[in-house]
Amino acid sequence: MTDDLLPALKRHFGFDSFRPGQEAVVRDALSGRDLLAIMPTGGGKSLCFQLPALLKEGVMVVVSPLIALMQDQVRLLEDNGIAATFLNSTLGGIEAAQRIQALRRGEIKLLYLAPERLLSPGFVDSFLQPLQETVGISAFTIDEAHCVSEWGHDFRPEYRQLSRLREWFPDVPVLAFTATATQRVREDIARQLALNDPALHLASFNRPNLYYAVKPRGGRAFDELLGHIRYHNKGSGIVYCLSRKRVDEIAADLQAAGVSALPYHAGLSGDTRRENQDRYIRDDVQVMVATVAFGMGINKPDVRWVVHYDLPKTMEGYYQEAGRAGRDGEPASCVLYFGMGDIRTAEFLIAQKVHPQTGDPLEDEQRIARQQLRQVLDYADSSECRRAVQLRYFGEPHPGGCGNCDNCLNPRPLQDWTLEAKQMLSAVARLAQRRQRYGASTVIDILRGAKTEKLISSGLDTLTVYGIGAGRSQEDWRALVRSLMQQGLMEETHDGYPVLLLNAASWEVLRGERAVRMAAPAAAPKASGKGRAARAAVAAGVEPDSEEDALFDALRALRKKIATEHGVPPYVVFNDASLRAMARQKPTDQDAFAAIPGVGAKKLDEYGWDFTALIREHAKA
Ligand code: ADP
Ligand code: MG
Repeated sequence: MTDDLLPALKRHFGFDSFRPGQEAVVRDALSGRDLLAIMPTGGGKSLCFQLPALLKEGVMVVVSPLIALMQDQVRLLEDNGIAATFLNSTLGGIEAAQRIQALRRGEIKLLYLAPERLLSPGFVDSFLQPLQETVGISAFTIDEAHCVSEWGHDFRPEYRQLSRLREWFPDVPVLAFTATATQRVREDIARQLALNDPALHLASFNRPNLYYAVKPRGGRAFDELLGHIRYHNKGSGIVYCLSRKRVDEIAADLQAAGVSALPYHAGLSGDTRRENQDRYIRDDVQVMVATVAFGMGINKPDVRWVVHYDLPKTMEGYYQEAGRAGRDGEPASCVLYFGMGDIRTAEFLIAQKVHPQTGDPLEDEQRIARQQLRQVLDYADSSECRRAVQLRYFGEPHPGGCGNCDNCLNPRPLQDWTLEAKQMLSAVARLAQRRQRYGASTVIDILRGAKTEKLISSGLDTLTVYGIGAGRSQEDWRALVRSLMQQGLMEETHDGYPVLLLNAASWEVLRGERAVRMAAPAAAPKASGKGRAARAAVAAGVEPDSEEDALFDALRALRKKIATEHGVPPYVVFNDASLRAMARQKPTDQDAFAAIPGVGAKKLDEYGWDFTALIREHAKA
């Protein structure tokens, strides 16, 4: 049934086939009904409204939250020879007037607008209404529709007003698109936008091209990060950190180590942020070190890796941030570094959530934040398939064994930790006998026989369990604590600060009725991280230094040169997926070049000659 749409897909966008879910959305959009499409980042949402816009009468109005995002999309469309434009405050009067004329003449198929502009009454009465009566408006598309929800992480009050579109234009369909993974936000979108019996499209949130790994953060984490970056050679990446201070430090350290890196966080001036983002998007800089403030605004499809250098606050946050990698569908890697200090930092930050006036703890917020932290820790600690854990969190079943995560590629064997578990639980029991309650770090200090002032002055060094676990590292004991809690064999409560408690299951272990097994704790690396980084990269499908890679690099240089000449980001010329296909298939004439994914009529004409010339050249060398 795709026959009628495929030629248009190839001609306008250069693609031979739809990605999963795209065709059904396109068909519903063409039928003129409202719809809500939920697809992960990189799922290819843009095409789902852009293709219908081209095939329908009139102009489609697209609402997008950020000016930068809007400009990029319009440039991408123009580069495919599609009549698209935007109106916003950056345009001069003459330029804006010309665009409005073109719209009135019906020459434009897609009009991008920020919500403030769309909703300003003068604009609706004197421009959009007349446009609807003459040229016709084929649909309103609301991109990044989760911005309408207060429950989402990018709430924009202006988006709230979009429900008025329904009153003003009752007959024009509304198409909403988002990558949000939470049920509550999805329901909120349909309600807030007053969607009329919308067709619901929910794509899988699985991103098979992403490799996931968690690495223990030992003292050499920075070296490992460097190894990772060097391994990925020229591939763009993002390092996410928790605080602005940390972003500045890591960015400076990377620069000092000769890495092309820039910082991005909300503490930088608007100009600096824009400039840094621009340089990143244009491939003038390889690495962006950033807080979570960096993200939604980037459409860059060829981010090859994302590293979380600090523990993310929520699983949803982790999934979305890591998901900025590999939008083009090519292999990309997502690595989370995880150390004991992270847990203490996270707990400290949670304890800071207090009422600004009274200083009383905000108990609900703290409880939710702790629960979210627990989920992130469970993910980080898990010896199960990473993909299965993530997808389960979003309510999507996955059989596991994805073959593209650290746990699937290097399974950690289960070990018997019954002896250590008994030691730990009996330490907690002994303390309880003395009517004392402590958190994990003190109990671990006791087991390891630490000679701290606190232990000695409290007489804890006289316990029979003092020092019986000196043979195990602090990290090992921490892993055991978390594993015992995950398995329900011990509890932790929070009255002021976290304390360990026994439950009925703990006693089963203590009485020897139950064995305790856990996955071997991953050892923090001691040597430079080169080997590991290399393994991760190979796992992510990035083959080092082949002839194909040499051609790929040359193609990339040509792309950069053309992009600079045209004043556009390199991915507007071609994305990595297209360059990879060129490096593999080595098309040397226009016919062969036309078969490359991403090469439509306009790009064939405009770039075919340069790229095939380079490939011929390369074949000779
Ligand atoms: P989203 O908005 O869902 O995050 P985009 O619309 O930005 O995703 O698309 C992500 C990438 O996927 C872009 O580089 C785009 O060119 C590419 N893409 C989209 N649809 C297809 C397709 N049918 N075949 C190949 N690549 C596609
Ligand atoms: Mg998008």
